[in-house]
Amino acid sequence: MTRSGLRSASGQLGRNLSVHPNAVVTAFFDQDVTGWHGVHQAFQVREFLDEGLLLTATNLTPPMLAGILPAYGRELGELMADYNRIVTAGPLVSDTGTGRIRPVPGLGPQVFYQLTDHDAERLARGVELTAEALFAAGARRVLLPVDGAPVVRGPDELRRLLARPVPKRSLQLFSVHLMGTARMSEDPRRGVTGSFGEFHGVPGLIVADASLFPGPIGINPMETVIALAMRNARRLVERRDSYEL
Ligand SMILES: Cc1cc2nc3c(=O)[nH]c(=O)nc-3n(C[C@H](O)[C@H](O)[C@H](O)COP(=O)(O)OP(=O)(O)OC[C@H]3O[C@@H](n4cnc5c(N)ncnc54)[C@H](O)[C@@H]3O)c2cc1C
Repeated sequence: MTRSGLRSASGQLGRNLSVHPNAVVTAFFDQDVTGWHGVHQAFQVREFLDEGLLLTATNLTPPMLAGILPAYGRELGELMADYNRIVTAGPLVSDTGTGRIRPVPGLGPQVFYQLTDHDAERLARGVELTAEALFAAGARRVLLPVDGAPVVRGPDELRRLLARPVPKRSLQLFSVHLMGTARMSEDPRRGVTGSFGEFHGVPGLIVADASLFPGPIGINPMETVIALAMRNARRLVERRDSYEL
């Protein structure tokens, strides 16, 4: 939208970016667990949602797993040979900080985002909770998403290692949930669009994706994205005669 020359009087277009920062704990079991088999992400721990923490077991595909394992060459090959015995799981936080996206000449759209200290602390707690759960499920060793962390071989080692604060910069994080850069609000001073995705000040332009979210929703966003898109499309069809398309 920004590249198309659109501006929002709210000043919020491209701002208010939430990303649900995510960390992955890699656990090795003695027996095959074939995490790729069955329903993707069938299990989540929602017990800590009021802390803004969702723990999910997400089976990473081989290329994604190879990308996050802290090894190269032969060593990486040996770890990957255990793929059927590996479970990847981890915390996702409902982030308290926000970032922005803006076009940078010659580079295209660039994302700017700083993790807050509070979110880093919750991620470290989520990593510990996830690793504890994996040991309780029978994992023999886990790799933590923390630079320089040794292989952890049991809950006692885990507690000792995480007794000290984890430096924010050492957390290995990623995001697959980008939200909020065209946030909706009926008040054009606060939101880029109205609550049915109509871009304030540009009749007939409807937003229908994750950028509408006023903030992080703390859970997987796809169903909400689909629900909003269908709702906004329905409203567009109902009111089509009033737009000059
Ligand atoms: C690896 C991965 C795993 C995920 N797993 C889950 C999950 O398990 N559960 C869940 O709920 N969510 C998951 N998500 C998040 C989910 O996919 C996103 O939140 C959701 O797809 C966002 O929907 P969207 O419509 O906002 O954007 P998108 O789905 O990204 O749709 C944007 C569309 O716009 C198109 N486009 C871009 N630029 C232009 C242009 N200039 N002109 C025309 N078209 C354009 C793109 O090609 C794309 O089709 C995952 C995301 C990733 C990357």
